[in-house]
Amino acid sequence: MQCPYCNQGDSRVVDTRATGDGIRRRRECLACHKRFTTYEQISEALLIVKRDGRREPFDRFKLLQGIRIACAKRPIATADIERVVSQIEEHLFGLGKAEVRSEAIGQMILEKLKDLDPLAYIRYAIVYMEMEDVAALQKELDRLMAERK
Ligand SMILES: [Zn+2]
Repeated sequence: MQCPYCNQGDSRVVDTRATGDGIRRRRECLACHKRFTTYEQISEALLIVKRDGRREPFDRFKLLQGIRIACAKRPIATADIERVVSQIEEHLFGLGKAEVRSEAIGQMILEKLKDLDPLAYIRYAIVYMEMEDVAALQKELDRLMAERK
């Protein structure tokens, strides 16, 4: 996405909003730090493939909510949560794919939460992981407990 001020190519997404028929993004140029808005039609927008095969447009707010719930009452700054959401969003759109599986996003979130807060990580894992991942979760719990000793 070229910056309209300096024509440089790298920008980061600072905000994403779904409008009626597309997605509006606020971007910040990494070179001149000016902000600009881009607009994508739904057909160009990223689709999330759910476990049951249904597809829905990527929703930044939903991503934020899911992480917020996992981080509830934990000593985590709102800015840190926002940063995690932005990093995941940038990574997702950086893949250049039309569709991304929801499990892949779940894994990205887990990776981020692991660094941020162990309890938020466990909460998220419990809510979003499938039964087959329980063994992995148990292993992770054991590791965290061992670290605490
Ligand atoms: Zn620029």
